Amino acid sequence: MRVVVAGGAGFLGSHLCERLLADGAEVICVDNFLTGRPENVDPLRARDTFRLLRRDVTGPVDIAGPVDAVMHLASPASPVDYQALPLETLAVGAWGTRRLLELARRKGARFVLASTSEVYGDPQVHPQPEEYWGHVNPVGPRSMYDEAKRFAEALTTAHRTTHRTRTGIVRIFNTYGPRMRAGDGRAVPTFIAQALRGEPLTVAGDGSQTRSLCYVDDLVDGLLRMMSGELAGPVNIGNPHEMTILEIARLVARLCGTGAPITFVPRPPDDPTVRRPDITRAHQMLGWQPRVDVRDGLARTIAWFRTGAEQSPAARVPQQESPTGTDAPIGRPGS
Ligand code: NAD
Ligand code: UDP
Repeated sequence: MRVVVAGGAGFLGSHLCERLLADGAEVICVDNFLTGRPENVDPLRARDTFRLLRRDVTGPVDIAGPVDAVMHLASPASPVDYQALPLETLAVGAWGTRRLLELARRKGARFVLASTSEVYGDPQVHPQPEEYWGHVNPVGPRSMYDEAKRFAEALTTAHRTTHRTRTGIVRIFNTYGPRMRAGDGRAVPTFIAQALRGEPLTVAGDGSQTRSLCYVDDLVDGLLRMMSGELAGPVNIGNPHEMTILEIARLVARLCGTGAPITFVPRPPDDPTVRRPDITRAHQMLGWQPRVDVRDGLARTIAWFRTGAEQSPAARVPQQESPTGTDAPIGRPGS
């Protein structure tokens, strides 16, 4: 297997690259480091079967040789990131998806879009099955992300019907694990960083809003099952174990053991009130179900944050594109 992972230097993408390499695939990681960082894949760069290309996928994406699968994970993903990068988020959801679909079509490759539970918006159906169309504010503070992903889903569907591109859509629910950035604003890394510093955990509103947390290894397993088949989807991939944000904060504080208190801060507008995947389809069509309990997953994530890896300075690679616009790889560490 020769797999292109767009957004491969991000949180989820780096875990996907790692697992693909472990399974014997050749991986071409394409990333512009907008919200990811090359150090996420540093340990992989010594391998002959791994290449890292600095490339903005909203522009031309030419990959020499055969490609069996294109995994499209490129997009800012945390509310803080995508609200700071609204035009980039819309661009990668639209032009980036188009470029990667064209690549998959040219190569006859399987294409998998990393879509999101955010396509359901602030849902009025609970839990959320794939048949639910969502409740999304097209001009609200989350619209640059929600609508980019909804457009990406529509474009992916049109490519399948028009060009017979072998597409699949996965709707990812809140996923967490090592390599999240403490500063990305998402609840889990924020709470862990605060708790380890002994600072108050900033729970938004009264903390009664819910999320359902999936550990990264389970999510990657679902992505690989989607990649290996021909299912069009969309398919929800997430852990249906629903918790309130206050429960999550208290659990993180307890697992960190620093006695950090909870503080309540204003809740952002359009913050979804509930979120929980119906995973019947993933179970029936992919044989997938999550396996990692939230306590185990959080403990592993906290252990990674304790190593200080999160604080290490980002090992930035040179900014310029290769002058020829071809697939020149970024130098391996030390080269
Ligand atoms: P992330 O920000 O860590 O990773 C995204 C990666 O995409 C980064 O490395 C970034 O530099 C790269 N990228 C962004 N724009 C690009 C562009 N124009 N060209 C090339 N690379 C670009 O986020 P993540 O949490 O790893 O999310 C990965 C994907 O999964 C995203 O598409 C996101 O929407 C989706 N998703 C994630 C979650 C989650 O809980 N983590 C939930 C739903 C959906
Ligand atoms: N949240 C919080 N404190 C924080 C960060 C987030 O209480 O420091 C809340 C946020 O308001 C939302 C939930 O946690 O209700 C999940 O937010 P996150 O940004 O992780 O992801 P979302 O599911 O909203 O995209």
